[in-house]
Amino acid sequence: MFENLSERLSGVFDRLTKQGALSEDDVKTALREVRVALLEADVSLPVARDFVKAVQEKATGQAVTKSVTPGQQVVKIVHDELVHVLAGDTENPGELKVDNPPAPILMVGLQGGGKTTTTAKLAKRLTAKNGKRVLMASLDVNRPAAMEQLAILGTQIGVDTLPIVPGQKPVDIAKRAKQQATLGGYDVYMLDTAGRLSIDDELMAEVEAVRDVATPRETLLVVDGLTGQDAVHTAENFDQRIGITGVVLTRMDGDGRGGAALSMRAVTGQPIKYVGLGEKLDALEEFHPERVAGRILGMGDIVSLVEKAQETIEAEQAERMMKRFQKGQFNMNDLKSQLEQMLKMGGMEGMMGMLPGMGKMQKQMDAAGFDDSILRRQIALIQSMTKRERANPQLLQASRKKRIAKGAGLEVSELNKLMKMHRQMADMMKKMGKMGKGGMLKQAMK
Ligand code: GDP
Repeated sequence: MFENLSERLSGVFDRLTKQGALSEDDVKTALREVRVALLEADVSLPVARDFVKAVQEKATGQAVTKSVTPGQQVVKIVHDELVHVLAGDTENPGELKVDNPPAPILMVGLQGGGKTTTTAKLAKRLTAKNGKRVLMASLDVNRPAAMEQLAILGTQIGVDTLPIVPGQKPVDIAKRAKQQATLGGYDVYMLDTAGRLSIDDELMAEVEAVRDVATPRETLLVVDGLTGQDAVHTAENFDQRIGITGVVLTRMDGDGRGGAALSMRAVTGQPIKYVGLGEKLDALEEFHPERVAGRILGMGDIVSLVEKAQETIEAEQAERMMKRFQKGQFNMNDLKSQLEQMLKMGGMEGMMGMLPGMGKMQKQMDAAGFDDSILRRQIALIQSMTKRERANPQLLQASRKKRIAKGAGLEVSELNKLMKMHRQMADMMKKMGKMGKGGMLKQAMK
């Protein structure tokens, strides 16, 4: 689906990866081409611009990992940024809220976008994968053929549809669907609203009225992914008027430019939940940002190569640190990386959660008011020290302490606590170091 974009990007990075070292100019030139490639794929201009800027910033600040070329590293940064742009903060985009039966799902979108087909595809999925009992109802009173279409699809996939009652208004059909879903013990009922060729007030008012009686758990906008920027505008419009909870991009099996996927999240703030990959009723996939980013770039090998290299480096660093600790060397830089590591692992709470039997200690720490803000303050104190002071904590006398505390906007008493903690940890490291070198055995034999 993203062939054009991925081919263009591969071209850019091929040229980069063949060079040994990489200058800032090289990165700039490459990113200019990335920008053109994104625009050609119909990614919106602000999104393309922000994307390139983010990559540029990350690439410039980052030291090149040993054993990969700078070009390969840029590929990895571009990949991560693609995932970020596609996913936002959503963890499981493909998850639908369908608890509290019967859960209403409202399907909205323009005519021809694939709304009815997608309704059936989703119903099939909910039935087969999630074991839900689903009822589908067509609200397209202007096009009897559309109602028939849903009924036929229902028969094909073995999912019930609400019997058609000619002359009923959409709002009344929605009420009837809710009633039947409740009485019939359905888990989910899906409302397939009418589409129009373009956005108009009448359509929006109708969908709004249906939304108000149904109070849907999910409102999914179905848009044709081939329409690029138009799809993004449609999503913006529907989100403003109706309030959508997610997007289904259809026709992603075609040879379209695919840029809609990249702009959608950034422009509308709504997650893409599914992609339609064909006319068949099982041609619906959950949206996987990682997978899609991989497809766009078409460089999975390089991405995993860089990930491995980075892991190796981290392991080497940890080992080097352990060796120093064993020799009794533990300075403020070491303390800082320990504190940062703790923050990275989800702070105190995250770490406690990982250790068995730590529930009690967690409570004590909560009671003592110990939380992540302490870690951050401690890190700020260390950052306020000079290079020499960090390497030689014994330099920290009264006047220096005052300066450091002031620099971090904190009291000297907090710095004293930090220094005490540093001494205790240094002692502990030394002892552990001795044990590591067979010291424990010697101790035991004494
Ligand atoms: P609606 O007017 O929005 O309800 O659109 P329909 O569900 O009737 O779909 C319009 C056409 O698009 C039908 O011929 C579908 O088979 C086709 N269609 C829907 N989704 C996809 C998709 O993901 N890929 C392809 N290739 N065709 C699709």
